[in-house]
Amino acid sequence: MTNMLSIRDIAPNMKNWCCIVTVQEKQQVTDSMGTPTKKQKLIFYDSEGSRVEGIIFNADIPKMSPVLQVYRKYKISNADVRSIPPKFQTSDLTVQWVITAKTVIEEVSREEDIMPVKFTFTEFADLAQYMDDKSKSVDVLGVVISSLEKKTITKNSKQSNVQKFVLLNEHSQTVMLSLWDDFLNNEGQILVNTIQAYPVVIGRRLKVNNYNGVSLSTWFDSALLVDPPIQDARELKNWAMRNTKLIASLIETKSYIKYNPQLFLKADQKTTLNCNVSLSQKTTLVKAKISFEHIFQKYWYMSCAKCNRATAADYGIEFTCNSCKQKSPAVPRCRFDVDLSDDNGVIPASVFGDLAEKLLTFTALEAMDHFNQNHELPLEFAHNSLKTKTFLLHIKPIQTQLADARQRYTILHYSELEQGFDSAQSLEQPNALPISSEHKIDAAQLLAPEESSSGSKARLRLSDKFDEAEITATDDVEPATKNSNKRTKLR
Ligand SMILES: [Zn+2]
Repeated sequence: MTNMLSIRDIAPNMKNWCCIVTVQEKQQVTDSMGTPTKKQKLIFYDSEGSRVEGIIFNADIPKMSPVLQVYRKYKISNADVRSIPPKFQTSDLTVQWVITAKTVIEEVSREEDIMPVKFTFTEFADLAQYMDDKSKSVDVLGVVISSLEKKTITKNSKQSNVQKFVLLNEHSQTVMLSLWDDFLNNEGQILVNTIQAYPVVIGRRLKVNNYNGVSLSTWFDSALLVDPPIQDARELKNWAMRNTKLIASLIETKSYIKYNPQLFLKADQKTTLNCNVSLSQKTTLVKAKISFEHIFQKYWYMSCAKCNRATAADYGIEFTCNSCKQKSPAVPRCRFDVDLSDDNGVIPASVFGDLAEKLLTFTALEAMDHFNQNHELPLEFAHNSLKTKTFLLHIKPIQTQLADARQRYTILHYSELEQGFDSAQSLEQPNALPISSEHKIDAAQLLAPEESSSGSKARLRLSDKFDEAEITATDDVEPATKNSNKRTKLR
């Protein structure tokens, strides 16, 4: 006679029990590190909301895994009950049931009940704090509105498939979720097939990456719950159905492909001090003031409108780009150098495109017109207003070494911090006084003593300036070409 028990009453090594459980989630089949063992983990819950891990090994996986479908209810008897050693615990679960080909499993009903399980989701806006932290993973809830092309990547001579899906939350924020390998074959396929119906997913134990701001990715122990029977998911789906116009416009403008500063550049973000910025990091966040008053430079270069690479073509002339091979007219693109300074040092950086125009308060076209007429850009306003501001900046080292051997950076994105956020700043700049020449802070005062000379020395000569720009290449942006006949005009 077997006893009908609830999950929490079933202790390790117990025999003669049965329990009615629902499959909450199923992970992908994984290899155990350094052994030929394969395993697949599941999570079961019962009507009390208690949960237990299920685990299937090796040859039992193809037999037993298809028997246990997510969100369905089963009567399970006499699985082998074990404690999970702490180092193998991936969640708060401490007991596992080993499901083998001998385990007795009967499906109870196919009706989906609302899961009594409470998930703790990380808001999209809070994801950044977990970025690139290998010890942390997150649970998120989102509606899948679109997918990008599937790609095959070869890493360490092993091929992997990856596809990005766009998750949307009810604050209309988007974040990209990369599904890898088995996730693509299983849940990914369901998402692709049902994408018109706004599938809602719960991503469990996802990794937060630093790509275009913030992005998510599946990991070895992640799980994806597609359209799970829980209240939050149903509400989100209903929200999506009511907001089809918004979703259609997001899909059309593909705004999710762009950098998502609203998720990433937040005032409370953990940043690196200038003196600690290191090349080993692919990208870094710093909190700093921006200045370029002391740098004599051109502010624009002629570029390919398609790929932003520099060209010698004249403005408006249609040409075939040597980089992207496309035909388009040459357009001026804004680009200039700035110093990023905090109390600990100064970092030279370059800023491009829209971000640069916003700082300059002039468009590339205006900068070009002034240059061509040999007029200096009136920058007093821009310089003065920068002195009152502190920025959060996402920067990336430039590979090329410069003549002065100082590492330069490209500004990937920046956002202005609220006045008074930075206490160091409010000391130097007594509240928001109207800016007049008396209140100007000499940029040099902000430089650390050992930096103040080298910070601007290398740039004093315009010829150096443009030569320097020539080799300051980055992945996605190309600097000014040498334009020697214009050089003399700007004196
Ligand atoms: Zn091009």
